[in-house]
Amino acid sequence: MTEDLKDIKNHFPILNQFVNDRPLVYLDNAATTQKPISVIQAEEKYYKTINSNVHRGIHTLSQLATVEMEESRKCVQQFLNAKKNYEIIFTKGTTDSINLVASGIEPLIKEGDEIIISNLEHHSNIVPWQFLAERKNLKLNVIPVDDNGELIMDEYDRLLSNKTKIVAVNHISNALGVVNPIEDIIIKAHKVGAYVLIDGAQAVSHRKVDVQALNADFYVFSAHKLYGPTGVGVLYGKEEILESMKPYQGGGEMIKEVTFEKTTYADLPFKFEAGTPNIAGNIVLKNAIDFVHTIGFKSIVRHEDDIMKYAKENLSQIDNIIIYAQNAQHTSGAISFNLNFENIHSSDVGFILDKQGIAVRTGHHCAQPIMKRFGIKGTIRASFAIYTTKEDIDQLVKGIYLAQKMLK
Ligand SMILES: *Cc1c(COP(=O)(O)O)cnc(C)c1O
Repeated sequence: MTEDLKDIKNHFPILNQFVNDRPLVYLDNAATTQKPISVIQAEEKYYKTINSNVHRGIHTLSQLATVEMEESRKCVQQFLNAKKNYEIIFTKGTTDSINLVASGIEPLIKEGDEIIISNLEHHSNIVPWQFLAERKNLKLNVIPVDDNGELIMDEYDRLLSNKTKIVAVNHISNALGVVNPIEDIIIKAHKVGAYVLIDGAQAVSHRKVDVQALNADFYVFSAHKLYGPTGVGVLYGKEEILESMKPYQGGGEMIKEVTFEKTTYADLPFKFEAGTPNIAGNIVLKNAIDFVHTIGFKSIVRHEDDIMKYAKENLSQIDNIIIYAQNAQHTSGAISFNLNFENIHSSDVGFILDKQGIAVRTGHHCAQPIMKRFGIKGTIRASFAIYTTKEDIDQLVKGIYLAQKMLK
């Protein structure tokens, strides 16, 4: 382990415990990451010292809370390298961010337009577009995936046309860990005048994202997969597109003036932030980002690449294991696999691993279409974070051998 990550587990109190009488091996980071003590303490400090509602009060605490939340917005702006702080909208999570876009973008869509997603998407980057397609009578096209779990880019080229209005794909697949060629996807989509939404839920904790360099129109993620709290998400959108979108929800905070005849909306970002937000969560997202920055993406990438390589090498030694996307060019953060015995479900293996104190995810990972593509019901997924060690992988391999013995 690199020097800067050697004691990293000490920052995460939850990791220092026994589960089922075994030291916890937490390999479900693609579902949610654990929280460092700095984030936990910041949340407690907020409630102990400045808890109050934002943007409304003239009183001191309300002003302090407002300042901190807007500081956090600026921190997210820098994290993604957005041009303007008001291009950062706080939401409830990735799902909420995508639903916001799929609803708000309606004024920019006309009947007969088309949407492109991929076979590799999380349900939350499928269903909101199906809703939109139904409402506006649009065609929903799907980029297929090859046997390596990689998008077939020739097919993408074929699907693109001047009817394409939206392309929505993930940066890194939560189901297989495949890194998608989003740079190429974005350039090609813009050539036909389409907007591109990138689902970055699995990417932001693993690599530096620069929305201006990518030229993404929308980029979304969840704080809870970035060492931050649940119930907090981010939508980055380009100013001029956000300006021409309609509000997602109506309510307090998102208006300029309300009369029964006509309501005018607040400026960005508040136009999209109806109601009292998750103030504490929005504020401590800054602490989570600060934590990532103190380690730095250079160390994170080096360490996680090392772990991925080690995991692939060691898992592939196991008899009768099928590793999905094993030969994909770029993978990050997660490995999906199955044991190739008759009548073994991924959940049987997950259950035995849990008894060893090893937490993995089993099942379809909210990505049923890609499971169907591979003709399976689900996989066992081990997913990594900055605190994952080679010892964790060794425990996983041992656990799988035990599961094999018990299930044979
Ligand atoms: C987790 C995840 C989502 C959904 O995120 P929520 O936090 O549940 O809203 C969407 N896409 C991908 C790729 C994910 O990993």
